[in-house]
Amino acid sequence: MAKGKLIVFSAPSGSGKTTIVRHLLTQEELSLDFSISATSRQPRGQEQNGKDYYFLSPDEFKAKINEDAFLEWEEVYENTYYGTLKSELERIWSLGKHVVFDIDVVGGLNIKKQFPEETLAVFVKPPSIEEMEKRLRHRQTDAEEKIIERVAKAEKELSYAKDFDVVLVNDDLEVAKKDAFEMIANFTKK
Ligand code: 5GP
Repeated sequence: MAKGKLIVFSAPSGSGKTTIVRHLLTQEELSLDFSISATSRQPRGQEQNGKDYYFLSPDEFKAKINEDAFLEWEEVYENTYYGTLKSELERIWSLGKHVVFDIDVVGGLNIKKQFPEETLAVFVKPPSIEEMEKRLRHRQTDAEEKIIERVAKAEKELSYAKDFDVVLVNDDLEVAKKDAFEMIANFTKK
């Protein structure tokens, strides 16, 4: 079976990255499928196990680390683990599709390092930190202390933008969706 490509989307949360990724997944001609990450955090809002994430307990997550089941994993927030299972790549490649990742900056660069030729690493940049904070509050899914934690993390993450293949500024969502579509169509054609 031929391996597909890997398309990594990384960004501070509140950048609009997830909206862009969801849009791309509806575009059949791109032949993309979403890499469902594992996490030890609780589901938020409408999130479903096996669709948005594989929700594991911290102990289950640690058992998978010991089994070497992860391509990459991280303690993104204190006591909250996130990771990409190796089995996700096999699952998606066996469907003849390209893998799309919606993961944090360090995880994204880790994947790029492991598959340098096959990966397009896209950094989605919010127009400003203020705008990002506004979007997080508007979403109304996070407690105030989580928002503060996410904003602090974002400031650090913005400094990694230069290590990505492309920086996509999400100023106008429609423009960002169209630009993302075109860069993926070009990359997967190669
Ligand atoms: P959230 O809790 O908002 O869904 O995600 C928190 C952060 O964890 C986001 O920056 C998200 O991109 C990142 N994340 C999600 N899945 C993974 C993963 O598989 N690996 C890594 N390293 N980060 C992830």
